[in-house]
Amino acid sequence: MLELARQQVVDACRALRDRGLVVGTAGNVSVRVDDLVVISPSGVDYDEMSVADVGVHTLDGSPVEAALQPSSELPLHLAVYRSTEHRAIVHTHAPASTALSTVVDVVPPSHYYCALFGGPVRVAPYATYGSVELADGVVAALSERTAALMANHGAVLVGASLPAVMPQVEYLEYLCDVQLRAGAYGAPVRLLDEAQLAEVTERLASYGQEPSGT
Ligand SMILES: [Zn+2]
Repeated sequence: MLELARQQVVDACRALRDRGLVVGTAGNVSVRVDDLVVISPSGVDYDEMSVADVGVHTLDGSPVEAALQPSSELPLHLAVYRSTEHRAIVHTHAPASTALSTVVDVVPPSHYYCALFGGPVRVAPYATYGSVELADGVVAALSERTAALMANHGAVLVGASLPAVMPQVEYLEYLCDVQLRAGAYGAPVRLLDEAQLAEVTERLASYGQEPSGT
């Protein structure tokens, strides 16, 4: 299981870079396996990253098997795992998500995709990257949600597994991009109300979490 998780982390980092969702070595990815956390290393080029570079830590951050420094956002990943049932976390600096994080406190529900994340996505207050303050803010913003923005920084998504979370990264980026484009038009953006979102949530529950073909 640990080896599979490490490979998933490498694959996810490369996919984020290939899809333009991170710049350079920004972003980080982790998977929880039992009471261990498998997390991408700090500052390693995604083209060069190997399975052996992906470290394993306990839930309190002690290294179990880690040849390199873990991602600087390890405290954030640990805080989420310690306080929720989630098993995978992806943090990006995707452009639209990051841009929108500088101007709103909650992602306005301008597209029904916001139901994919449990409701309107909150923006955690700005705090220095890697800080416990940032981790605490993100945990609070993720309450009953599977995504949050980090003010003036990026996005974080959580879920049951990396294969489940990865498509969500792009849906969130799309949602933020739509809001930015609509907001730039100048006219008031028409937002969906709670009843409209509840109906989508119900449909997603009966068709699975992928809105494909809709
Ligand atoms: Zn970051």
